[in-house]
Amino acid sequence: MGEHGENRRAMLNLIRERQPLSGRQAADGGGMSRSTAKRLIDGLLAEGVVQRVAAPGQPGIRGPRAGNLRLRGDYGWCLGLNVEPERIELCALSLAGDILGLESHPLRDRGSEGTIRQLAEIASASRDGGRSTTQGRGRLLGIGVAIAGLVDARQGFVYDCFPVPGWEEVPLKERLEEKLGAEPGAPILVEDRVRCMAVAEKRYGVARDLDTFLYVDLGSGVGSCFFLDNRIYRGKNGIAGEFGHVPVKENGPQCNCGNKGCLEVMVSTGSLKAAVKSSLESKVYTQLKGGPGQEISLEDIAAAAGQGDKLASLLLFETSELIGIGLADLVSVFDPGAVILAGEVVRGLGPLLVEGVVRAVRLRGIHPITQRTRFLNGSSIPHLGAWGAATMPLEHWFGSGILNV
Ligand SMILES: [Zn+2]
Repeated sequence: MGEHGENRRAMLNLIRERQPLSGRQAADGGGMSRSTAKRLIDGLLAEGVVQRVAAPGQPGIRGPRAGNLRLRGDYGWCLGLNVEPERIELCALSLAGDILGLESHPLRDRGSEGTIRQLAEIASASRDGGRSTTQGRGRLLGIGVAIAGLVDARQGFVYDCFPVPGWEEVPLKERLEEKLGAEPGAPILVEDRVRCMAVAEKRYGVARDLDTFLYVDLGSGVGSCFFLDNRIYRGKNGIAGEFGHVPVKENGPQCNCGNKGCLEVMVSTGSLKAAVKSSLESKVYTQLKGGPGQEISLEDIAAAAGQGDKLASLLLFETSELIGIGLADLVSVFDPGAVILAGEVVRGLGPLLVEGVVRAVRLRGIHPITQRTRFLNGSSIPHLGAWGAATMPLEHWFGSGILNV
């Protein structure tokens, strides 16, 4: 990117982050000469990326330099598709970051062929103007796809999606480009779902003001994303963050990755529910009651533990200990400053789990680090993955650098 490109990128990101702002503020904040700033702003206005809006106390926009600068919501939009175990979630996002539409489609086939076919169908229907929410919103600027698995976003390559068969070594970006056509102006970006959620938290949620943090998702799977100096840390092979496959129990149950006693096989939603079911079948004394067709929820376990039920309390204690053992290593090694705990296990088991995790991390980690580490709860937004998926092409378009691809 040449000097003009760099200045244009800086000006666009300044307007994006501080809008609405006056032409003078844009010129001062961009760290460039007045004449360069003026030329850039005029260019962005002519392109239709930016518009002038009336400033407070200045009802009419008079004169070519008056009014505040804002991104245009009708210049273009991004599409995000998030593959969940039973559905595909869609989020359409305007250039200005406003959600234009959210949809949920039942996933017809979890295997790679069926999923790729359905992703392409949904994407082409959206792109070709089949959705009223994106009509009049300009052109499609990019498509982001989120999937839970070992994903190298730099190549758009999926190494594996445990335990779903057919997802071994799938060049997902390439396959989608074959079906949708490769358009340089509207790239397809493929990313691990947890990283997409971390991007959404960074842009809109609890991580907005954090430059370095660790995002941990505990749900049907366990994963993490490490943000270092406002950029995703990807590692040499592009798949850093496999926190779910850190072994925490010697000779523990078999994990889908081939190892035994991984954190994911010990504390995922499915493992916790299975542990309670097996205790109930062996007639353990507990107030938890799961009748035929009646599943015990994580909220039930937390409520019973709160009332002193021994089985529920022990399960909660062991779960927070195992998460804390794994997390203490990461916190001591990386010193992330903040840890965001998210996912249905955290939401379901609630404050008792979080307190236990923090206690376990502080007990086992390096004191000066763990004492200074903030523990935050992730946002309870149900469509966070799709929102993050749509945010990826937006970040790419702005060249913000946070994706680090
Ligand atoms: Zn594993």
